Amino acid sequence: MKKILNRQNFINIIVITIISLFLTRLSTNYPLVTDIDYDDVIFSLLLVFQYIIWLIICSMVFGNSITYHFVRTGLIVLQAAAFADLLDEFYDVKGLVSLTETLGEILGMFIITVGLIIYYKKNKEKIHHITALKNKYYQESIRDNMTGLYNQTYYYNYYKEISKDMNFISESNYLLVMDLDNFKNINDIHGHNTGDQIIRILGNAILSSVQNTQHLPFRYGGDEFIILFRSITLAEIKDIVENIKNNTSKVLQSRALNNGEYLEARFSIGITEQKNDDTGESLFKRGDKLMYAAKERGRNSIVTD
Ligand code: GH3
Ligand code: MG
Repeated sequence: MKKILNRQNFINIIVITIISLFLTRLSTNYPLVTDIDYDDVIFSLLLVFQYIIWLIICSMVFGNSITYHFVRTGLIVLQAAAFADLLDEFYDVKGLVSLTETLGEILGMFIITVGLIIYYKKNKEKIHHITALKNKYYQESIRDNMTGLYNQTYYYNYYKEISKDMNFISESNYLLVMDLDNFKNINDIHGHNTGDQIIRILGNAILSSVQNTQHLPFRYGGDEFIILFRSITLAEIKDIVENIKNNTSKVLQSRALNNGEYLEARFSIGITEQKNDDTGESLFKRGDKLMYAAKERGRNSIVTD
């Protein structure tokens, strides 16, 4: 009820009343019609009330937007035309009242059409904006913001989807799990910022080494990274690992420490072949176990199953 008794509708009723009184005042200057057609009277009355109801609905739908102001103006003009038509049933009107009756409908419809076109354009922009935002937030939610690699959540979602693909099942796929060796020491000795830099450098090296392929790298968490390799051999994976190591070393060497020395990043790696009945969890668990076996064997090495 509060929505109906708002300021906008109050103003609309006042405007309609003033126009109606003005048209009535003008009509009384003309002679009365002798045989009134009451069917037409009822029809014109219904139109008058219909436009008033539309005005109320319109304020609820469009709020106080520019569309509302166009549509409400159009509806008031239409209502005035309908009222002039009603008066025409009682008086033999001419001049402004007659003009309101004939031109009012066309003008009212035109103004409403302009309002609806503006509404369509604005909504199109809004939908476009919302879709872009949704996309942006989705991308942020599946990536690790430090390295730009996909995150752990996305690994499990991606695996769930990809494992439904019969092509994927029939291929020779592998999961590589890698974890930096003694990374805590780097943080302790050189500071957390240097540790962050190493994680970024390694992330970049992984990205550039598996770029433009169907293999997908993820930062699983902390100093642990995984890569899901598709349709590949172990020898090819080892070449890619070499590439990652070389890329990481190159960047670290180019950023020598104050004393001229440079940091080295070493990592332990587990590589496991994907089986048909694997889930994302079972595949990762096996790869992680192999990575820990590499740690136990003295670190900086690869263990496969
Ligand atoms: P290990 O060879 O057994 O892996 O030894 P580690 O010292 O690397 O130990 P572990 O992998 O268990 O712990 C990883 C450490 O990495 C813990 C935490 O201090 C550090 N770390 C995790 N995420 C970040 C990060 O985003 N930035 C920095 N600077 N350090 C991180
Ligand atoms: Mg570690």
